[in-house]
Amino acid sequence: MNRSDALIELDAVNKSFGSFQVLKGISLAVKDGEAVCIIGPSGSGKSTILRCINGLLPIDSGSIRVGTQEVHKMKTEKEMRPLRHQVSMVFQQYNLFPHRTALQNIMMAPIQVLGHEAGEVEARAHRLLAKVRLSDKADAYPGQLSGGQQQRVAIARALAMEPQVILFDEVTAALDPETVKEVLTAIRELVDDGLTCILVTHEMKFAREVAERVCFTDHGRIVESGPPAQIFDSPQDPRTREFLGKIL
Ligand code: ADP
Ligand code: MG
Repeated sequence: MNRSDALIELDAVNKSFGSFQVLKGISLAVKDGEAVCIIGPSGSGKSTILRCINGLLPIDSGSIRVGTQEVHKMKTEKEMRPLRHQVSMVFQQYNLFPHRTALQNIMMAPIQVLGHEAGEVEARAHRLLAKVRLSDKADAYPGQLSGGQQQRVAIARALAMEPQVILFDEVTAALDPETVKEVLTAIRELVDDGLTCILVTHEMKFAREVAERVCFTDHGRIVESGPPAQIFDSPQDPRTREFLGKIL
């Protein structure tokens, strides 16, 4: 890929917390419609990469571009606003508002942040609930839903902002094994629809099946990246081999 064709482009990104350098020269390009998985040991910097991409964390040097937006140059929340609309993030902890129904949770941001008209937002929220197969749960409160159902509401909520990109950070890590699959199925359908996304995951089977590219991170570096078959079947770096040997 010609790097300038990328929708998301990180170039030589460095980031430290105090004296601890968490990202060491991260370069990554993701094109429109591509699904990239980031795998790697705990503490290797995966979440930090995602948080830098949507401007939640400032970087020390290097550059981050999303579409035409130069994230590393943004300083104020006001400057970041268009970026936050373009890039949604879904976390391990789904953080739905407990006193709002599934439908209301999905409707809040488009009305309050984007100022869209309620009737139009509601119709769209129903379509998104159908997409994550929760049409019958529109009026349920989060406490009445399983973890997997709540996470699917959180995904519908992210989609309601009509983002260009969604960043998924270990979204199945806190779920019961039997509900992991329904969430992964929902994500897989979005990828099939052409959503551009970066997924941090420990679900290696899912990464192999869904990702066009897999990046393995260790100690703040992308040690190795390539098509899933290459990373999983013939990893080149000993650190990738060691990691996969432990978890596969
Ligand atoms: P991963 O998602 O791969 O598990 P993270 O990106 O969350 O890794 O964290 C990478 C390293 O940076 C860890 O050692 C973590 O403790 C440290 N770290 C993350 N966030 C902060 C922070 N806000 N302040 C200080 N250290 C942090
Ligand atoms: Mg993490």
